[in-house]
Amino acid sequence: TGRWAKVMAILNEVEEKCATPIAKLRQVADAMTVEMHAGLASEGGSKLKMIISYVDNLPNGDEKGVFYALDLGGTNFRVLRVHLGGKEGRVVKQDVAEVSIPPHLMLGTSHDLFDYIAEELAKFVATEGEDFHLASGRQRELGFTFSFPVRQTSIASGTLIKWTKGFSIEDAVGEDVVAELTKAMERKGLNMRVSALVNDTIGTLAGGRYDDSDVAVAVILGTGTNAAYVERAHAIPKWHGPLPKSEEMVINIEWGNFRSSHLPLTEYDHAMDYESLNPGEQIFEKIISGMYLGEIVRRVLCRMAEEAALFGDTIPEKLRTPFILRTPEMSAMHHDQSSDLRNVGNKLKDILGISNTSLKTRKVIVELCNIVSTRGARLAAAGVIGILKKLGRDTVGEGEKQKTVIAMDGGLFENYHIFRQCLYDTIKEMLGEGVSDSVRIVHFNDGSGVGAALLASSHSHYL
Ligand code: ADP
Ligand code: MG
Repeated sequence: TGRWAKVMAILNEVEEKCATPIAKLRQVADAMTVEMHAGLASEGGSKLKMIISYVDNLPNGDEKGVFYALDLGGTNFRVLRVHLGGKEGRVVKQDVAEVSIPPHLMLGTSHDLFDYIAEELAKFVATEGEDFHLASGRQRELGFTFSFPVRQTSIASGTLIKWTKGFSIEDAVGEDVVAELTKAMERKGLNMRVSALVNDTIGTLAGGRYDDSDVAVAVILGTGTNAAYVERAHAIPKWHGPLPKSEEMVINIEWGNFRSSHLPLTEYDHAMDYESLNPGEQIFEKIISGMYLGEIVRRVLCRMAEEAALFGDTIPEKLRTPFILRTPEMSAMHHDQSSDLRNVGNKLKDILGISNTSLKTRKVIVELCNIVSTRGARLAAAGVIGILKKLGRDTVGEGEKQKTVIAMDGGLFENYHIFRQCLYDTIKEMLGEGVSDSVRIVHFNDGSGVGAALLASSHSHYL
């Protein structure tokens, strides 16, 4: 019937617009490399901020003592207490608590957000056991993982450039987030100081390096997406400070803000961007990361409902609600292995209130999830290749044995298995036979929390 022809026409159009043939991915990777160079050359030289992290020494295993970490990234924040035991002991003990951020605080004031965080942190500190002793005159030390773009002014200070993901707290922009947190901790009577301010990519890089000295790149695929890597300090023209002893500097790329004419964008992406909290920004993030994939699928389904009556003559009311279809649900539908796709059917019913869908309809939805996630995973892979190119590690010379490990983390990468496999396959495909043996991708679960504690230790005030 004409209805189905129209559904298929919309599906095919989306597929065409989202296509990521290898030639296109190479253009994306090349553009990423070019932008990285430009961002390192001068402040504001690129959409990529290429933020100097002030981390010029990654963990080497000697770190000792008890350190706290606070990871504020998206929907939740995590607090950790990590007991580091040096080369022999490694991570002796680790306690973690996870707290969800009430949505109204993401759009409120800086004061309220940091008060809430400090309060939860104080509750966690109160669970210190009998075996915890703070030497007299000492403060507890914290590694603060704050996963939004920050202009670092030192290892333990930095001003917020802008919010991303679901956050928008006007009065925090331009402020030093460490000062904000410190003031809140003082208000709550919490005796703790921030020794290191990093973001999740830097934390993951540090945590990864602690386990494996070949780690040179970290990529986060969670609510948002970002990457960091170890750069040679003399290859950073915009750095005018003293050359670090290690001659290395970790760079936070802020790749979520990457954009290029080579990116395959659809009308759905443009509309979602236009209606977002940060129109025109974080375009790479908006087609790759967990906050957005489900929403893109919802937008296409909406059009199929409106123009091709995919769900019958009336458009299901809930389908019109932005962000109602979350990426974990999309992932669950995409992974449905049952012959009648009953999980897809159940999700449609539970989330969107659409019952009695035909198998044909369910198949369209699975295919749509596949199109949207494949584009995201393949573009993330192209980004990784862009970084490897910048490092000169996308090829191997004769007799060269250099290994590169990419530390990965984030809820999207961790849980969306088809996405992850596609990312692996695409990186392999782009690197080709010989090189792909020298590059390994390793999942460092919660590496960013431990990494922040490690950096708090190596930047301790009591060294
Ligand atoms: P954050 O990025 O907020 O710091 P995480 O790394 O834990 O936190 O990532 C959480 C995000 O991961 C969620 O917002 C969601 O988009 C994505 N995610 C979580 N579970 C799944 C899942 N089962 N399938 C796909 N994506 C998921
Ligand atoms: Mg995170």
